[in-house]
Amino acid sequence: MSNVDTVSTDVLIIGGGPSGLATAIHLADTLKQKGQSQRILLIEKGSSIGSHIISGAVIKPDVFKELLPDVDISEIPFNAKVVKDTTVFLTKNGSITMPFHIPYMNNVGNYTASLGQICRYLAVKAQEKGVEIYSGFAVDEILYDKGKVIGAKTKDTGIDHHGTQLDNFQAGTRIEAKITIFAEGTRGSLAKMLIKKFNLAKDSNEQMYSLGCKELWSVPQGNIAPGEIYHTMGYPLDNDEFGGGFIYGLNDNKVAVGIVVGLDYKDPSFDTHDAMQVWKTTSLVSKILKGGKLVEYGAKTLPEGGYYAIPKLYVDNAMIVGDSAGFLTMPALKGIHLAIKSGMLAAQTAANALISNDTSEKSLAQYETLVKNSSIHKEMYPVRNFRQGFAKGLIAGGFNFGTQLITGGAGFSGRLRAHADHLTTSKLNELKKKPFKERFNGQLEFDKVLTFDKATDIYHSGVYHDEQQVVHLHIHDQEKFNAINIEQYGAMEQFFCSSEVYELHVNKDGKKELRIHAENCMHCKTCDIKTPGERITWVVPNGGNGPDFQNM
Ligand SMILES: Cc1cc2nc3c(=O)[nH]c(=O)nc-3n(C[C@H](O)[C@H](O)[C@H](O)COP(=O)(O)OP(=O)(O)OC[C@H]3O[C@@H](n4cnc5c(N)ncnc54)[C@H](O)[C@@H]3O)c2cc1C
Repeated sequence: MSNVDTVSTDVLIIGGGPSGLATAIHLADTLKQKGQSQRILLIEKGSSIGSHIISGAVIKPDVFKELLPDVDISEIPFNAKVVKDTTVFLTKNGSITMPFHIPYMNNVGNYTASLGQICRYLAVKAQEKGVEIYSGFAVDEILYDKGKVIGAKTKDTGIDHHGTQLDNFQAGTRIEAKITIFAEGTRGSLAKMLIKKFNLAKDSNEQMYSLGCKELWSVPQGNIAPGEIYHTMGYPLDNDEFGGGFIYGLNDNKVAVGIVVGLDYKDPSFDTHDAMQVWKTTSLVSKILKGGKLVEYGAKTLPEGGYYAIPKLYVDNAMIVGDSAGFLTMPALKGIHLAIKSGMLAAQTAANALISNDTSEKSLAQYETLVKNSSIHKEMYPVRNFRQGFAKGLIAGGFNFGTQLITGGAGFSGRLRAHADHLTTSKLNELKKKPFKERFNGQLEFDKVLTFDKATDIYHSGVYHDEQQVVHLHIHDQEKFNAINIEQYGAMEQFFCSSEVYELHVNKDGKKELRIHAENCMHCKTCDIKTPGERITWVVPNGGNGPDFQNM
């Protein structure tokens, strides 16, 4: 048995996405300006920075000028500048190009990008400023002393799937920090624990999520221009399924395509991955992909509950930034600039707290004040009821969005609420529409040229997990799971999972059981969010495990 190492730092940042990296960069800069030098440590579970990063992405660039004031924008590895942005309403056999942009959806002047590449660039900048970055380490425990956060611990490794320590057992490292920043992205597994322990969401709406599935393609020259982008609404989604598609033309004849679907849908057999395959067969998308080749695949959830779903952002010695806090504007499908801005505001707060030697909750409350006075509030508040309005369907939602725009965000009913996504699914015998497979009967046989089954797509995500570890997807109450999730909801996990982790199996006694192929997991977190009764919890697997995204 190995001893537990303890490391001390001034600030610990958990997560190397845009929010965590922006926190690190701005904190290092702010402290330097004030003549201070403090230790900043950032831990990332991906094998390298960017390997777990997936986004669309079209990025609003202005925040980069604030984050890196000495850098010329041309140095940042954006892809093409958006030159043409079109919104299209799809039907099964055709499409209607919208003659106007939906508010919040005009992207001309923004940049397309691989967020993974942007994060790799930001990591270099952070290291140049003295930030220590350690990737390939999963953080799985928050450390407390007398009820207050005092850091976090990386995961023990060298354990077999029964939990028995092996010869190569390595205890995780305790990282004690004056301030801990939770920057784990959507449905952060530690942020979730923190929010629960301190009841930080008691005054907030339920967070709502969507699942985004994306493919990166290489296509023949001329199929789409760099900076030519499309957003689609309608087919193959029904009125009660919120979401749409995106097509982003990139340099070097690459194109990013994908769909994002709200997880508050009712049909237990709905399958976002397969819906994306059907979407690709529409004439708009198939023309763009014709003659091309799939390069990469990935999936991740997005927090889309908006302003009212943001929890309290701080406790003694800790703050939450980026997607983990729910900073995302759904009508624009954008969270990157908000993740960066929130990281900068948390950094400003942390710098003041360190200098005054006061990291108490009272001192860190400054972060929330800064957010309220920032561009984040200015952008999110006017559309504060947006997503909840659509919980009743597209027509009701469209009407509601219209009234919100007129009334400055209030709509006609003040604050709207919606249910958590795990509560919205209909049981098999209560579903009032054709199940997914019947709706798309004959369209779910994939040709492996334009359309792909999950196994083929997963192969293009480079996903890997050590066999020697406890399965990182925990089913609570197996009996209830079998009786309710399998029998009443038809084991919907096998359909919503973007990477075929869950398989319904009938054993030799004729009993149905769910098999878990944890090695396929893309870390999208859908199971943690959508499983009826919240009977599955996603915990972080060994560091360095998961997808190996290159340009997502
Ligand atoms: C399909 C899709 C399309 C999108 N399109 C756009 C778009 O076009 N424009 C836009 O602005 N936004 C878009 N977004 C949203 C945007 O990507 C997010 O808002 C943004 O990435 C949030 O940044 P973050 O730093 O909070 O989280 P993330 O980018 O998710 O980064 C979090 C990091 O933390 C790491 N981590 C998590 N838990 C742990 C742990 N326990 N230990 C160690 N490391 C951990 C993760 O591996 C990850 O690297 C899109 C999202 C998706 C999924």
